[in-house]
Amino acid sequence: TPAFDPLLRVEDVVMEFSGLRALAGVSLELRRGSVMALVGPNGSGKSTLVNVISGIYAPTHGKIYFQGRNISGLPSHVIAQAGVSRTFQDPRNVPAFTVRENVLMGANRLYRHNALSAAVNAKWAKVEESRELARVEALLGAAGLSDSGDKVIGDLPYGTQRLAEVARALASDPELLLLDEPAAGLSEAEAEQLVGLIRLAQRHGVAVIVIDHHMDFLAGLVDEVVVFEAGEEIYRGDMDGMRTDPAVIEAYLGA
Ligand code: ADP
Ligand code: MG
Repeated sequence: TPAFDPLLRVEDVVMEFSGLRALAGVSLELRRGSVMALVGPNGSGKSTLVNVISGIYAPTHGKIYFQGRNISGLPSHVIAQAGVSRTFQDPRNVPAFTVRENVLMGANRLYRHNALSAAVNAKWAKVEESRELARVEALLGAAGLSDSGDKVIGDLPYGTQRLAEVARALASDPELLLLDEPAAGLSEAEAEQLVGLIRLAQRHGVAVIVIDHHMDFLAGLVDEVVVFEAGEEIYRGDMDGMRTDPAVIEAYLGA
């Protein structure tokens, strides 16, 4: 695919759920290899934006362009195949599979949008291509999971499962990675591992949108932060500017 900049363009997106305006006209652009954070109070529309970009919901209004192509309203598996990969606020691994099997499932773009259908299809999926296996091993290493590859994921700590989920999302070699609160419940060491994984992705030109509440985790990782309140952008800029912005302090950071 030819390089397309901006990789992602969100244009005046509105998302309504039976009268409730979760997104009230959001616009943003994301360049290749850049990391954007979405922050804001609970219920401000962060997950909804990720859900609209990844095709879980069709926007009520507005357009989303990915690599110059209008993807708004396309089914999530089509958007996944186009190069958009994501994790969910709640980890979605297949508990009875090993860590390596879970990450390997992500290697196939056809299945990465849905861990359950992946579990059903993995037996038949031809994922033995050496390039995919090499990528999976590299990701296991980058996530600090090399020694856990053969362990059943459901037996492992929560933080390990979350890291494996990010590795799985990257195994499909996406152009855009959407992470919904990936650092929630991680130890400091695990959060550092996660930062390493995101930086690795960035070095490969992957653009990342990350939702998170931990400012220390986001600082030094993100190029741009967008703050939402009630479905609207109230701040866009760098982390330092955010910390001292009156509207952000009022709506989110508190007194
Ligand atoms: P955040 O991720 O910032 O905490 P969300 O995007 O999850 O916020 O939610 C934004 C608003 O949209 C909330 O009021 C939430 O209840 C509502 N919402 C989100 N998803 C749905 C849905 N599927 N049906 C109805 N309301 C929803
Ligand atoms: Mg959320």
